[in-house]
Amino acid sequence: MKPPKFAYLRPQTLAEAVKALHAADGDGKVIAGGQSLIPMLNFRLLNPGVLIDINRIAELDFVRVRADGGLDIGALTRHHTLETADIVRERFPVLHAAMQHVAHLAIRNRGTIGGSITHADPAAELPLMMVLLDAQISLVSSRGARELEAQEFFLGPLTSAVEEDEIVTQIRLPGLPQGAGWAFEEVARRSGDFALAAVGVVLHVDAGRVVEARVGVMGVGDVAQRMFEAETILFGQTCDESTLDDAVASVRAGVEPSTDLHASADYRRHLVGVLVRRALKDAWNRATGALHAGN
Ligand SMILES: Cc1cc2nc3c(=O)[nH]c(=O)nc-3n(C[C@H](O)[C@H](O)[C@H](O)COP(=O)(O)OP(=O)(O)OC[C@H]3O[C@@H](n4cnc5c(N)ncnc54)[C@H](O)[C@@H]3O)c2cc1C
Repeated sequence: MKPPKFAYLRPQTLAEAVKALHAADGDGKVIAGGQSLIPMLNFRLLNPGVLIDINRIAELDFVRVRADGGLDIGALTRHHTLETADIVRERFPVLHAAMQHVAHLAIRNRGTIGGSITHADPAAELPLMMVLLDAQISLVSSRGARELEAQEFFLGPLTSAVEEDEIVTQIRLPGLPQGAGWAFEEVARRSGDFALAAVGVVLHVDAGRVVEARVGVMGVGDVAQRMFEAETILFGQTCDESTLDDAVASVRAGVEPSTDLHASADYRRHLVGVLVRRALKDAWNRATGALHAGN
């Protein structure tokens, strides 16, 4: 299918893009990698009067190290950059690992972090990474700038908090504790497909006990979500089998998967528990040195 007719603008600066989006008065759409937007146009699910192409805006394309060891990532950063950049691999190996599962190389060459999180697919890896890594997301419009926590950014399936006149500019990832263990686990029917379910874990262990646990899941609800009850169960523990049993049971009780063509809700609920157990074991082993932290 072909997209409906639209006007096309290619601003060179962020200020020009903000102005163009404001002028479109609700009838404009930002286009970044186009990997989700173009299919939606082709299927006539959207019918914007004007596309505002942000690909020439160099000020949106960066990955910078922060003083706290974290990263500031421009909205136009391509998936392939996140997959291959050494500073991402060193500082956020869990993000580096997750990026290997995003679609196929041709799509990762074009797709952007800003586009993926704005699109807010419930089975996409980057929204999961945002909630796992406590990202802060910066937006700008002609009304001014604002910043949202990842927890308030994802509102529902294919629905983010980005207003029709707003542009995502930057994603801030606060630094992780030194030596934190991590793991990413995903099951998809074929390599590159959207996930049936996936799990990200970060564990900070001190003196043989978990002092901070983060457990994020996706594919098993309307949005990627943190499993706060499981995190509380893990706090102060050693990831022994009984603690893992309790954490897994809590995750299975806390998700609301749906049945679709690819898998039943029961299967997804079972699967996410299996993935949480695997991920917690790996993260624990990395944090305690049983697995090399960079592996
Ligand atoms: C065959 C196929 C398989 C895929 N598999 C996966 C997968 O396994 N995992 C996965 O995570 N993704 C997958 N994707 C999606 C891919 O990652 C997309 O690149 C991503 O979802 C959208 O990024 P984009 O830069 O292409 O955004 P676009 O398609 O350009 O835009 C998507 C939406 O975001 C808006 N937007 C874009 N940038 C901004 C911005 N800076 N500010 C405000 N609004 C903005 C657009 O207006 C649009 O509404 C797949 C895509 C395809 C075609």
